[in-house]
Amino acid sequence: MPDARPDATGYETVIGLEIHVQLRTRGKVFAPAPYLYGGALPDDAAPQDIAPNTLIDPVVLALPGALPVLNTAALEQAIRFGLLVNATIPGHSNWDRKNYYYPDSPKNYQLTQKDHPVTQGGEVEIELPGPARNIMGEHKTIRLNHAHLEEDVGKLTHTGATSQVDYNRAGAPLLEIVTEPDLRTPDEAVALLHSLRHLLNTAGISDCDMEKGQMRCDANVSVRPTGQRHLNTRTEMKNLNSISGVKNAIEYEARRQIREIQAGRPIPQETRGWNAETARTYSLRGKEDAHDYRYFPDPDLMPVKIDNATTARLRATLPERPYDRQRRYMSAPQDGGYALPYTLTSVLVANLPLCAYLETAIATHPRNPQGVANLIANDFLGALAAANATFDPARIPPAHLGTLVRHADAGTLSKQQAREVFQEMFTTGKSPDTIIEEKGLSQSNDTGEIEKIILEILAQPTSAKPITEYKAGNEKALNSLKGPIMKASRGKANPRIVDEIIRRLLA
Ligand code: ADP
Ligand code: MG
Repeated sequence: MPDARPDATGYETVIGLEIHVQLRTRGKVFAPAPYLYGGALPDDAAPQDIAPNTLIDPVVLALPGALPVLNTAALEQAIRFGLLVNATIPGHSNWDRKNYYYPDSPKNYQLTQKDHPVTQGGEVEIELPGPARNIMGEHKTIRLNHAHLEEDVGKLTHTGATSQVDYNRAGAPLLEIVTEPDLRTPDEAVALLHSLRHLLNTAGISDCDMEKGQMRCDANVSVRPTGQRHLNTRTEMKNLNSISGVKNAIEYEARRQIREIQAGRPIPQETRGWNAETARTYSLRGKEDAHDYRYFPDPDLMPVKIDNATTARLRATLPERPYDRQRRYMSAPQDGGYALPYTLTSVLVANLPLCAYLETAIATHPRNPQGVANLIANDFLGALAAANATFDPARIPPAHLGTLVRHADAGTLSKQQAREVFQEMFTTGKSPDTIIEEKGLSQSNDTGEIEKIILEILAQPTSAKPITEYKAGNEKALNSLKGPIMKASRGKANPRIVDEIIRRLLA
C-alpha cells in the first residue's frame, strides 16, 4: 500500500481514476464505419471538422438485422496496452450488454466488458512534481485494477427547445482503464494522466488529446482521518475533460467531504458533476449498481481466445517505456547511457520520433551526447517553434548535427559561429562543412597569429587603462581588451586561446 500522507486538516484524500481513451484504429470497434484515426480521414481531424452523421453504418445505427463484428485492431491495441503496463492478459475475454436508454446510443445498450476484461491488474509509474523544474520528482507505482474494451456513444447538442444528435462518435473504440484507489493527492492524479498519455502516445495506442475528447476521466474521491485503514464512502465525478478540471474537481471535492464529515453529515455514495465556471461539484444522481443495468453476455459477439503467440507478436511491437528510456539517457556511458541531465531528458523522452532522431545523431558523434542533445532540444526545437513548424527528421540529417558538435568540440568553430552555422543548416538543409566553406567561417587556433594580434592591441594607447585596472585585480577589465582583439581577428580567434595568451602576457 502507498504511504499515508498527512495533511494540515488531519485527513488524507483517496482517489481512484477511471480513464476512457479512444484507441487509434481506422474503424469503429464493432462496425465497418471508419473513425477519426488514419484511413480516409486526416490524422489531425477533430470531431467538429467532420459533417455530423457521416461516419455511420447500419451497425452504428442499430438498424434491424445489423450484427456487430469485433475489430481485431481495437482488441490488439487493448492487449498492447496491457503488455505495456505489465498487466495479465487472460486467455478468455468477452463482451456484455449494459442496458439503459439514452438518445446518444441507438441500441439502448452499450457493448462493454464486465466480468472478463481484456487486461487485469498491471501498474503505471508516475513522477510527482520535483522541488524545482530541473530536479527529478519522486516516482511511485500506481496499481491498475483492469482495463476493458467498450464502445463510445454519440453526441447530443441542445439548443433552445431542440436537441440534435450526431452518431459519428458512436461505436468508436474506447479503452476504460481503472486504477486501484492508490492515489493520494490531486497532483498524483494529474501525474498518472500525464504518464498514461506518454505511454499511450509513444506506443501509438491513443493520441490522448483531451481537447478532442480522446481522453476523459472519472474521479472517485473519498477522505479518511490520517492513519485510518479502511476506506470511507466515495463519490464519483463524471466526465472531467481537462487536466485542470481533474485537479480542481478533486481538490474541491475532498474539501467538501471534510467539511461534511466535520459537520457530522454522512457522505452518500453518489455520482457528481464538475462545473468549471463555479468551480464546484454538484450531485447528479445516487450511485447506480451493476444489477441496475441488467448486464448479460452479448449473444451476437463471439468470446475471444487470446493465445501466447498473439501476445508475443504484440509485445514485439511495443516501444521502450518513457521512464525507462529517461533512466537510460541519464545513466552513465559505461551502463550504455548518455549521462544527460534530467531537464534535457524530460523534454525529449515523450516524443518517440525525436528520440529516434537523437539516438541516430549521437551515434554519429558518440563522444559528446550532451552537446548533440542540447543542439536538438534547444536550437532545433527552438528554431522549429520560432518558424511555427513541426519536427521533421528530414529537415536536418542527424549526421549533420554530429558534425557540427564535433567542430565546436574541436574548437574549429566558436560558439557564436556554431550558432550561425546551425541557423543556416536549419534554413537551407546544407551540411556544416559546406556552410563553413561558403561563409569562410572557422575558428583560428593559430597561437602565433593570435599572439601577434594581441600584442598589437596591447600596444595601443587605449589599452593602457584596462591593463592597469586588470593588474590592480579587476578581472572584468580583460573584456575591454578582448573585444578589440576579437574584432581585429574578424571574429575568428579562438576565445579560449585569446584568454590564455592575454593572461600570460599580462602576468
Ligand atoms: P464500480 O465498479 O462501482 O464503478 P469500483 O469499486 O470498481 O467501482 O471502483 C471504481 C473506481 O473507484 C476505481 O478506480 C477505484 O479505485 C475507486 N474507488 C473505489 N473505492 C474507493 C474509495 N473508497 N475511495 C476512493 N476511490 C475508490
Ligand atoms: Mg465506475
